[in-house]
Amino acid sequence: MGKEKIYMIPVNDAFSINCECAFCYLENNFEKQCIEIVLGESVMEVDARIETNEKGFCRRHFHMLLEQKNKLPYGLILETHLNEIKKHLEKLIYSNFSAATLQQKDRFLKKLLGNQNLNKNKLTGLIQYLENLSVQCIICERIQARMKNYFEVFFFMWKNQKDFQQKVLSSKGFCLHHFNELLKYSLNCLSRKELNNFAEKICKIELDNISRIYTNVCDFNKQFDYRNANNTVTEEIRNSLLNATEKLGKYK
Ligand SMILES: [Zn+2]
Ligand SMILES: [Zn+2]
Repeated sequence: MGKEKIYMIPVNDAFSINCECAFCYLENNFEKQCIEIVLGESVMEVDARIETNEKGFCRRHFHMLLEQKNKLPYGLILETHLNEIKKHLEKLIYSNFSAATLQQKDRFLKKLLGNQNLNKNKLTGLIQYLENLSVQCIICERIQARMKNYFEVFFFMWKNQKDFQQKVLSSKGFCLHHFNELLKYSLNCLSRKELNNFAEKICKIELDNISRIYTNVCDFNKQFDYRNANNTVTEEIRNSLLNATEKLGKYK
């Protein structure tokens, strides 16, 4: 715990927000920052662009970049990333034929696909490249690294600040994805005695809040029965589908 102390304020603040998961709140905020940073880098930092050119983004983050108002930075990112992909694919498909003409390349490809063994090896290399490309996203990587800091700071404060612990215990719990992450981090961040105490308390608030949402969703559905037409529907019930989705829906 050194420079991570700077994360104490955002983590502490997130648990003051009335939401279904403070970690989702933190993650969404950092994700927005990342989008801006990546677009900013596209017109400036050469080093960062090398990484962007190679790895690209996951489907969610490609779409988030597309939705931004300023189109030129994304255009520049796409130009270099597409060029990188084009070069890789050409190399994988036409290896040994890099200087050949288009006609020669076509003939080569036909011959290649006619040969069962060659065909299979070539496709395996291609599949491997595409597989790697599909799991790489520089925004997801940065988010993962930042979330690790947030979880570590969470446990530092949980152990050292009683009022923070109280704040967590009066929160609405976590989405299932971050609940799982939290439990996994707890195995490394807490001693055995601390772990028992933590798990008991945290599991209780999580279950209480799942029950709360379940009851609200049941009440939401009941309003469609004509016999309940005159019953008042509270704001909590009206928002229950959104709250349940936030509780269950993975961040991506
Ligand atoms: Zn969450
Ligand atoms: Zn991503």
